[in-house]
This record gives sequence, structure tokens and C-alpha cells, in this order.
Amino acid sequence: MRALTVEPKQQGSATVEEVPEPPAEDGPVLVETLAVGVCGTDLEILSGQYGWAPPGRDRLVLGHESIGRVQEAPAGSGLAEGDLVVGIVRRPDPVPCPNCAVGEWDFCRNGKYTERGIKEHDGYCSERYRITPEYAVKVDPSLGSLGVLLEPTSVVAKAWEQAERIGGRARFEPKVAVVTGAGPIGLLAALLGVQRGLEVHVFDQVTSGPKPELVAALGAHYHTGPIEEAVKEPDVVVECTGVGSLVFDAMEHLGPGGVVVLTGVSSGGRSIDVDAGLLNRAMVLENEAVVGSVNANRRHYEQAAEALAKADRSWLEGLVSRRVPLEDWQAALERQPDDVKVVIEVAK
Ligand SMILES: [Zn+2]
Repeated sequence: MRALTVEPKQQGSATVEEVPEPPAEDGPVLVETLAVGVCGTDLEILSGQYGWAPPGRDRLVLGHESIGRVQEAPAGSGLAEGDLVVGIVRRPDPVPCPNCAVGEWDFCRNGKYTERGIKEHDGYCSERYRITPEYAVKVDPSLGSLGVLLEPTSVVAKAWEQAERIGGRARFEPKVAVVTGAGPIGLLAALLGVQRGLEVHVFDQVTSGPKPELVAALGAHYHTGPIEEAVKEPDVVVECTGVGSLVFDAMEHLGPGGVVVLTGVSSGGRSIDVDAGLLNRAMVLENEAVVGSVNANRRHYEQAAEALAKADRSWLEGLVSRRVPLEDWQAALERQPDDVKVVIEVAK
């Protein structure tokens, strides 16, 4: 079968090649891959900055955002031929740590977890893959290939869960949310905020292209200026850029008892001036919380599947800016100005 593979840490090593059929040890459920989404992590792997091949091998099958159709599933697995499924990315570490032991691998303590398409386990950008039922999440059949948005949605489902759990240490009735960054993660974070009945404000730099319209179509508000000029004291901020100045901007303008959830990964190496004393004072006197959030466990995928099932299909379709066949994978990796989510179509 064909697969998009890469030699991790080697820039320019990606290629579509013939690889063996998926190994039986990956699980009894055989899935035909329909499509795979491309994200920043894939670009980092392709540029040689990130990624690990499976033990004893040089190459890794890429792809961690997927949608596929079940071809074979054992009786009693909860899955049947024809079901649309998404494979979970992370697998618990083998020790396992206390979190992985209870299925909270997104909180793995020892870093020995594996991740499909990223760390020591082949990904989903192959014509077929195998998986165990507990790592395959069913999506609403009416979503079709839009189910490829499930993995990024699981990341924001976890971010919202974190905001609610931490906010819930006192009476918490959030009304106003800020989302920084209108990429796929930011737009999906806004969707989940609107679904919760919040007034949602999305901040990004671009003034043209699909992002302002996608935000408006949700019934949320799009801004390009500073946070404090548009919103007073939001209850929740979901930070999706990793831009240091925005992170501190979000912390500075948070409402009392509010929660900032950081989901963006900063590149580091850039310093900014921050009045640490003033920030400390505001956070203490207003019981504010800032929390980092990464990855997702099965519960978050299930929450995400519910959120996507409820979402307007044409709005979700608007997130997918380009669909590129597997043989043209290079075109999928070249960023174009109006791109939101680019998808590689694996099935012909
Ligand atoms: Zn662990």
C-alpha cells in the first residue's frame, strides 16, 4: 500500500512510497484511510525538527489527524464495517505512569508515551491502518470526511474542559470568552465557546481571507486590534498562537476568577518586557489561573465528536481550504495565504 513516510530529523526526506500492509500487532480493526489533515507538527517533522521513527526503523509513516472507514472489526468491538472512525494519536507509556494507567495519557508524567505519526509509532497517512477498538472513535456518518477535524477539535475540547474544571473551583458562570488566533485550533475553540452559549471574541492579524467570515458565521466577533480595546475582563481566554506578547496580554486583561488556557507552543528565543510584579498582583488579587493544555484523551475525542455532530456542516466545510490527493502531497505542505486546514485525500 502507499504511504507518506519521512525520516525524522532529516529535512527533505518525505516521500510517498510502497510500504507493507499494517502489522497485526497494531490491532484487530482494519481501517481504510479517507483523508489526513496537515498541521504545524507535521511541518516541523517534515522540516527535520521533530519526530521519532519506530524502534529499529529509519522511517515513520506521517499523519496524526485522520478520518477513515472501518473495513474489518471483531464482533463485540463496538465497531462495524463501514463506520467512520478517527484514530487517537497518543498511546500510554509502557510503565505506565499514574495518569497513563487510568487513560489520562494526555497528562503522561514520564514522557515515554508514543504518538501515531509523531513519536515511535506509524501514523495514519497510509491507505490502510490497524488499530485497537479503544483508540478508534466513531464520528457521525453525516460528517463524512469532515471527521478529519476531530483530532484538532479534541485538543480544544480538552482546553475547554480545563477552563471549566479550574473555573469550577468557585462558582463559575462564564459569559465572555477570548480566543487568540484564528487558525483551525482557534476557530474550533470559538465553535465550542459559542456552543456553550458564550459571547466569543476571536483575535487574529489578518483582515482578509476566510477567517473574519468564518468567525462572523459562528455569531462570534472578529478583531485585529489589542484585546483590551475590544473586550473587558473575559472569563475564559483560549490562547492558540504561542506568541509570547499575546500570552501576557491575555493574562493581563483577564476578568476576576478567570482562566487562561494556553494551547499554542512558543518557539522561544524572544524576550519581551513584562511587569512581573504587576502581573503577580493582578493574578493573586483576582484569583486568576493560567494553565497549559496539550493533547487529548478518549473523553476529549468523544466530546469533540459530539461538538462536530452539532456543528453546521457548511461552516466546517469552510475550515477545509484545500483537499490535495496523496500523490500531490507536496502541494498540501506549501502554505498558501488563505489556508485554514489543508487535507490530504488518501483514498482515491
Ligand atoms: Zn505516562
